Amino acid sequence: MAEPPPSLQIGSFKVAFLTDGLWRNDGGCMFGVVPRELWKREHPPDELNRVRLNLTCPLILRGREAIVVDTGIGNRLDSTERKIFSHGDGWLSDHLRALGLELGDITGVIVSHLHFDHCGGLVRRKESGQLEAAFPRARIFLQKGELEIAENPRNERLRAAYRHAEEIIATNRHRLEPIEGPLEIIPGLYATPTGGHTRDHQVARVVDGASSFVHLADIVPTRSHLRGPWNQAYDLDALTTMEQKSRYLSQAVSDRTWVSFAHDDAVFAARVNNDRGKLVLGEKVAVPEHLRGVS
Ligand SMILES: [Zn+2]
Repeated sequence: MAEPPPSLQIGSFKVAFLTDGLWRNDGGCMFGVVPRELWKREHPPDELNRVRLNLTCPLILRGREAIVVDTGIGNRLDSTERKIFSHGDGWLSDHLRALGLELGDITGVIVSHLHFDHCGGLVRRKESGQLEAAFPRARIFLQKGELEIAENPRNERLRAAYRHAEEIIATNRHRLEPIEGPLEIIPGLYATPTGGHTRDHQVARVVDGASSFVHLADIVPTRSHLRGPWNQAYDLDALTTMEQKSRYLSQAVSDRTWVSFAHDDAVFAARVNNDRGKLVLGEKVAVPEHLRGVS
């Protein structure tokens, strides 16, 4: 892919919207209590009831720092899983190359949580079948509680949600920097816990002067999730997701923060406006046409 990904300038930071590719997942899982008749208008399901989703990974650049937020699915899935989720080898390294960067140039990764569609790209499967660290020079920032739950899932639901995590953690063990609570990773770039989707889910925020940007990961995974009750069935605490969403989005309306969506197939990021009590998209960074409709 020769075209560089779309980007935003946030003060002295550049935020480039990488994607690890399109994939598909069950619409019911993505929209929780919302009836299919409502979500299918914005996200038409295929014959398997799957909707098309993105794996947006904002890359935050300043000076020598190149910090990516989440890593997509990567190339570690087996052939059955590739079919289920309609995902191939992932695009992250191609998109980095279009910016003149290699995987080894990434200095940091902020992992929102350890579900496979956010941390799978932390490893690469080599032709031999062995796994290697995808970002050998990166410091990997995740909440300590998220790591503990992934390593010791105490019931069947958590065991299923983190079944892939062991190989990702083992391959990156000495690169992991578990954090407790909020952390300023470099001046102006923050990792902040939200809970909600998982108990220790975190988001990434950039603030420089009057400009700001936030990647809300699975708190607002698509543009449709701007609505309060539209939350994923995966959320362990949907009420916390709603509270965090409402707090971050009202802030975004008042200080014109750019918000990016982890899984939206059409919009990478947008400003949010309050139109007579309803949150609507303002100025947008659209997913370019050549990145849509293929996976
Ligand atoms: Zn996700």
